[in-house]
Amino acid sequence: MISLEALFQPGQVSKREETMVVYSRDASRIQGPCQGVVWPETVNDVVRLAQWAAETGIDLVPRGAGTGLCGGATPQNSVVVDSSRLRQIGAGEIQSKKVMVDAGVPLDLLNRTLRQDGLFLPVVPGSHRSATIGGMIATNAAGLHAVRYGRMSNWVEEVVLVDGKGEVHQLTADDRKASLGREGITGMIVQATLHLTEIPEIRSLTLFTFENLEEMLKQVEELKTNPALSALEYLNPLAAALVGWTARHSVLAEFHGAEGKIRDSAGMANLWGARESLSARLTQAGFPISEDPQFPPDALEESIDWLTTQRIPTFGHLGVGILHPRFLQNDARIAELYRRVSVSGGQISGEHGMGLKKRQWASESFQADVQALKTQFDPYNIFNRGKQC
Ligand SMILES: Cc1cc2nc3c(=O)[nH]c(=O)nc-3n(C[C@H](O)[C@H](O)[C@H](O)COP(=O)(O)OP(=O)(O)OC[C@H]3O[C@@H](n4cnc5c(N)ncnc54)[C@H](O)[C@@H]3O)c2cc1C
Repeated sequence: MISLEALFQPGQVSKREETMVVYSRDASRIQGPCQGVVWPETVNDVVRLAQWAAETGIDLVPRGAGTGLCGGATPQNSVVVDSSRLRQIGAGEIQSKKVMVDAGVPLDLLNRTLRQDGLFLPVVPGSHRSATIGGMIATNAAGLHAVRYGRMSNWVEEVVLVDGKGEVHQLTADDRKASLGREGITGMIVQATLHLTEIPEIRSLTLFTFENLEEMLKQVEELKTNPALSALEYLNPLAAALVGWTARHSVLAEFHGAEGKIRDSAGMANLWGARESLSARLTQAGFPISEDPQFPPDALEESIDWLTTQRIPTFGHLGVGILHPRFLQNDARIAELYRRVSVSGGQISGEHGMGLKKRQWASESFQADVQALKTQFDPYNIFNRGKQC
């Protein structure tokens, strides 16, 4: 059997100890053994790799920036396939507002490149500096502007996927479900055609703070009817205090237009900077475990009240009901949180995916979907084995 090293140029494969340590986990901190790392540079490299894995039976784990929070890119005695050398950005089509882009392109790099055409991809996860287009499609990412722009599924026109047989698919319309939100279980995304939108000319922000939760949620419902609204980010009193704001229920609302109170770019950067510093601050404060339940609107008051009473620092994309409570390692209250999500009719994962961390909560119908997709696209089970369910 041909070795992995013999398949590629020197420098495209590593089995060095220190490399394998780095690639043995993603941002979830879930760790697993890594057999090696490959950096494909062309679609054909990925095809040869998939064919090799089908013959050897070795599991391949596609990896973007490794910012995932549920162990989706954690190997389990696997070869990790790093997309960072799949990095071409096609010319933006200004008329049709589209771009063709390789899977390993980080979001901020794409948006900096598109700025000259006045366009951008408006799905912006908190990890926007490094998260890749491939990882964002694979997790169907949402993020800071989800209340206005939705998630990746709203912006992906076509996906090029190399499946577990080494076949290349151009997935459009309904077929996209084989890649969107599938966390790499059907194959490796190598390219995508994305829809874009215009960069807003004017933006402004207002920071609302409330003592009373019911009052805050009333105001949130009113804000959601405003067509200029472009972000609605929540911090509970514990999270607000950590970024130096008054310890109250806080809502950061962004508008496309001048109706927010803060309009100068320094003032806005200051507020967004505080919000975006929160994840790192919470980790430093001893709360590294990030959850992402999505609650229906009528369950938000009870859920936020419970989290705050439990002194669990919480923030999130309130406009779409996604909360990020942060826990200590092995916090027993995580199970209670998910019991509450289930009772409320919410989703266990609002945006991070299932990965290894949440696969035990996969419903029977979700598992049946995974099995059907595996049979069609990955019959030898070589891509992200054991993920999602
Ligand atoms: C500070 C912080 C803030 C975050 N904020 C948000 C947020 O607001 N919204 C949100 O949705 N998420 C958020 N996340 C989670 C994470 O950043 C997203 O899920 C992101 O889309 C992952 O991109 P990535 O390139 O890092 O993917 P990775 O972590 O490398 O991989 C994620 C999953 O996708 C698969 N995958 C990666 N690349 C490919 C590919 N080319 N083909 C097939 N499968 C692939 C992997 O196997 C894995 O299952 C945040 C994470 C952090 C650390």
